[in-house]
Amino acid sequence: MSAPTTPLLRVRDLKTYFPIRRGLLRRQVGAVRAVDGLSFDLSAGQTLALVGESGCGKTTVGRSVLRLVEPTAGSIQLEGQELLQLSEKELQPLRQKVQMVFQDPMTSLNPRMRVRQILSEGLKSFGICKNPGELEDRVAAAMSRVQLLPEQLDRFPHEFSGGQRQRIGIARALAVEPQVLICDEAVSALDVSIQAQILNLLSELQEELSLAYLFITHDLSVVRFLAHDVAVMYLGQIVEQAPSTELFAKPEHPYTQGLLAAVPSPDPDQPRVQARVLGDLPSPASPPAGCRFHPRCGQALARCSTDPPLLELKAGREARCWLVDAES
Ligand code: SF4
Repeated sequence: MSAPTTPLLRVRDLKTYFPIRRGLLRRQVGAVRAVDGLSFDLSAGQTLALVGESGCGKTTVGRSVLRLVEPTAGSIQLEGQELLQLSEKELQPLRQKVQMVFQDPMTSLNPRMRVRQILSEGLKSFGICKNPGELEDRVAAAMSRVQLLPEQLDRFPHEFSGGQRQRIGIARALAVEPQVLICDEAVSALDVSIQAQILNLLSELQEELSLAYLFITHDLSVVRFLAHDVAVMYLGQIVEQAPSTELFAKPEHPYTQGLLAAVPSPDPDQPRVQARVLGDLPSPASPPAGCRFHPRCGQALARCSTDPPLLELKAGREARCWLVDAES
């Protein structure tokens, strides 16, 4: 169940559009609506998983929250402070509070830097340490938090395994003592057994440090263990949001049902959802009229030619589909 706490991160009606330009004059002829009116809350000690196919806009959500890409409209509040109104300079100290863990530590860690330098970078740029001794202590503490040894600090990234490199990526994010971690496909490149170790580590760190995670993934099976809440994204919008246990027990939206049909169940006696998602994801530059999912939906009705609202089924549970209603 979601904890009834004040959200650390509050996102409302977030839109991030990328202009499509053509011709010699580079005139704008349209826009890719990567994120198209997204709202969610994230509280300390909680994990919200943002799930969807490649191209649905979930990575752009994470990058928009950090303002690595500039949102077109909406509101992003961190501890009540509106981030979209801040200048780059005003934003800088707040960047310490929200850190990112990337999918591929091999490309996100500088191969020419020793781990000591990698972990020191953020501490130096945010001016966190008063002296070299404190810097050394914090770097060693970040290393042991991810269960690596301080003796390994003078090695280069290529001297570690894939799982250890992802631990270094997590240590780099943790070194500056953030409140929110945005994990973008953070375990997708790892073998299943290593995935489980990293998910366990993230879970322990959350418990210990009360971290909030925005966990972005295409793989519903990895969120079952870690997420308190799940938001399913389709073509820039949330189509279903629910506490994780409820979503896995009874998915309401046909798209969620289709995603779950592809996930092996840990309980062999549990009846399998048979729905399948048909065809490919349409372009977010020209989403289908009406319900955006209708060309791929096996349950579409005549009514689906108009756009369904995101309907609240009960507290913490929403779905964007004409088939569901408040009684379900
Ligand atoms: Fe399918 Fe219609 Fe629901 Fe869209 S609104 S998901 S097309 S049933």
